[in-house]
Amino acid sequence: MTGRHLQPRLLDTDPPQSEESGCENAGPFVQVIVDQPGRALDMELTYSVPADLEGDLQVGSYVLAPLGRRRVPGWVVGFAEAPPGVRIRPIAHLLVDGPVFDARGLELARWMARHYLAPLRDALRCLLPPGAGRDTRTFVALTDGGAQTSAGDLSRAPRQQQVFEAVREAGEEIDLADLQASVAQADRSATASVVTSSVNALAERGLVRVRRALSPPRVQALRRQVARLDGDRDWAEIIMQTQPRAPRQAEALQELLAAEDGAPVAELNRGAVNALADKGLVIVADETVRRIPERAELYGQEREFLCLTGDQQCAFDRIDAALQVRRFEGVVLHGVTGSGKTEVYLHAIQAALARGRGAIVLVPEIALTPQMVGRFRARFGERLALLHSALSPGERFDEWARIERGRADLVVGARSAIFAPLADIGVIVIDEEHERAYKQDGPPRYHALEVARLRAQQHDAALVMGSATPSLETYHAAERGTDGLSLCHLPTRIDDRPLPEVEIIDLRGETLMGTGGTFSQRLLDALEGCLERGEQGMLFLNRRGYSTFVMCRNCGYTLRCEDCSVSLIYHHDTRDMRCHHCDFALPMPEQCPACRSEDIGFHGLGTERVADQVGREFGLARVLRMDRDTTARKGAYADILGRFAAGEANVLIGTQMIAKGHDFPDVTLVGVLNADTGLNRADFRASEATFQLLTQVAGRAGRADKPGRVLVQTYNPGHIAITSASRHDYESFYTAELANRRENMYPPFARLINLTIADEDEDRALATARTLAYELQERGLAHRRGAMQFVGPARAPLAKLRGRYRYHLLLKGRSIEELRAALLEALDALGDDAAAVTVDVDPLDMM
Ligand code: ADP
Ligand code: ZN
Ligand code: ZN
Repeated sequence: MTGRHLQPRLLDTDPPQSEESGCENAGPFVQVIVDQPGRALDMELTYSVPADLEGDLQVGSYVLAPLGRRRVPGWVVGFAEAPPGVRIRPIAHLLVDGPVFDARGLELARWMARHYLAPLRDALRCLLPPGAGRDTRTFVALTDGGAQTSAGDLSRAPRQQQVFEAVREAGEEIDLADLQASVAQADRSATASVVTSSVNALAERGLVRVRRALSPPRVQALRRQVARLDGDRDWAEIIMQTQPRAPRQAEALQELLAAEDGAPVAELNRGAVNALADKGLVIVADETVRRIPERAELYGQEREFLCLTGDQQCAFDRIDAALQVRRFEGVVLHGVTGSGKTEVYLHAIQAALARGRGAIVLVPEIALTPQMVGRFRARFGERLALLHSALSPGERFDEWARIERGRADLVVGARSAIFAPLADIGVIVIDEEHERAYKQDGPPRYHALEVARLRAQQHDAALVMGSATPSLETYHAAERGTDGLSLCHLPTRIDDRPLPEVEIIDLRGETLMGTGGTFSQRLLDALEGCLERGEQGMLFLNRRGYSTFVMCRNCGYTLRCEDCSVSLIYHHDTRDMRCHHCDFALPMPEQCPACRSEDIGFHGLGTERVADQVGREFGLARVLRMDRDTTARKGAYADILGRFAAGEANVLIGTQMIAKGHDFPDVTLVGVLNADTGLNRADFRASEATFQLLTQVAGRAGRADKPGRVLVQTYNPGHIAITSASRHDYESFYTAELANRRENMYPPFARLINLTIADEDEDRALATARTLAYELQERGLAHRRGAMQFVGPARAPLAKLRGRYRYHLLLKGRSIEELRAALLEALDALGDDAAAVTVDVDPLDMM
């Protein structure tokens, strides 16, 4: 900010009164988006700027504005001419000093709102510190002048003197609320507003300054008391002497002796600790617990930058050249697992930081990649900030603040980290760019890849997208050089380690072993061999829970969720049937609810059941399981991965979570129990997703010197997704699938918008869907043909979700702009019924 105000910043002391009074429509005027939910308020409102805020307001200012009879927070998004003849109300006041986003942020939000048909408010919220409430806080501190003034100079104004001393005593900045409390404690007549007036008077004299900021989310105590033994003494002797008279104290001493570096007082007997402190045996200190987001440091990693191979250097050079001349450049890094992509990212980041610019690294799910985070941490240390949803709100707020203040210039995080408030970005890395996790499934339904492209363009940065299995859209664009993208290949693993051999096991006609039919003979033998050699194995299966469903063998009845159109899944640990889409659960019934037969059985496989079986049937197996159920607790991922890496177990069983970039040198066998579950999804990307997943899973075996073996069980041994994944052959899959997409007019040959119409009343849902289809037809969309088409309306694959019936319409078009324009008009024509419609632009989830 410039030194615009010679005037001190003052606080609001009076309750809101007739704000409009005396306000003539004289400029300037600002446009405000109010921070209120709902589409009705998704528009810019015009307010006038009161005299005391003139010069203070800018794009990104967080203000309080009158709306009806209330005052609501909102953001300034522009300046305006007042429409003639309309009485404009003034902004009530400024909530936070300095803008909470800048012009580039606003441009990004406007793009998201337009592209994804989302309220601008939702898009703007992405730019704010995560977890920050709408609350703001005010801080008061002495100015330099104030620091040189003695309180005695204020003797003619005792109230101000009192407040001034309280600010001085606080040392640094003091929260206005704390200041009010501390003054009131000394003098009950000093009400909050009296203190505020005094602060204003002191500010006008230039003795204190006032700062307003967004309030961080409420967090748990950051400080704790830690007790330590005092000095080096013969503690055994002391404990013996203490024991008879004060057994509690002796016990506390014992615990402190066992603890390496003290113990939190909260975990000991407080009375005993106090007594020991009085005797001078124990020291109690107040310590700040720094919130360290990740236990990534568990993984020791090399600190040195490795010398790049020729292929790596080639990719790096392209990124470095873009950094040198400061221009946008998109590099798609297509490299098999273990080909050294991460090392290229590390070098690229290093190059950006060396030029004084920042970097963002996105990973699909950070909790799944502790090793990668450990590698970044080892190279860049404290400059790294982590941002992801598994952090507590306080942790995220802290990390965000470090970035904003320039203390951290490398941000590693999940999807939303793309909005990190770096002032100058040199490189954005998106690892595993094909992952669905990059698409947000609530408004604004943005894709982080698209946002990243825009941000990279705004900052003239390099955008690096890495994957062993790039999405068809990305690869197609890179291959043709559209969207400023180009392609780099890392075709071999470092040191030419071989890719693991993948064997396809045809399940047709196999007799499967294990209850529920889990293992083919070949997989059984392989797992036994692996365990006998003392090596590790991973078993992959796409379903959590015990079994996939429970069916009556007498009448065929299956238990389904009452609110969602899906089967309930049995969970053995809790002995209940649960819906995986909502939180509906039922105790496991003893007899069939339909025919009262007691012959109810489990069908299909879940991770829990397989883990159970393997534990029972393989003598040598020590099993760990990783899925959404076992990782609900914070830190559980790192815990399970750490235990597996440490050899605590020799079999890891899990869902796609175990398919991601972990690097376990002792894993020599990977078994895929059911490669088909993904293929049967009602989604045109089912084949691509299966190919990607199998390739990922296969990459887990034989990462170090021991050769790896991958066994894939399937009922579709000839499917292109399975055969090409087994040969590690991206190109074949790409070519075949591309032809398929072209023929059926799917991306990359068309853009899609998925419309879901949900209603508690099924007839009304269908009626709305039909009206919408009609309105779209009126605007040039044709049913299943032409350059703009729609498919449906049809029941969504997930036909009922949380009590609402769902229909969907899929729009396809060569031009997303034309599709969007037609859709906007059609939604307008729908009026209030449009509230039932969810719009997903460039959808990934078609369920
Ligand atoms: P990816 O990200 O493609 O899976 P990594 O960057 O993790 O590949 O590299 C795989 C392994 O090879 C790692 O153990 C890494 O330390 C090592 N590595 C990567 N680049 C080099 C290099 N230039 N020289 C030596 N080892 C390397
Ligand atoms: Zn029955
Ligand atoms: Zn449900």
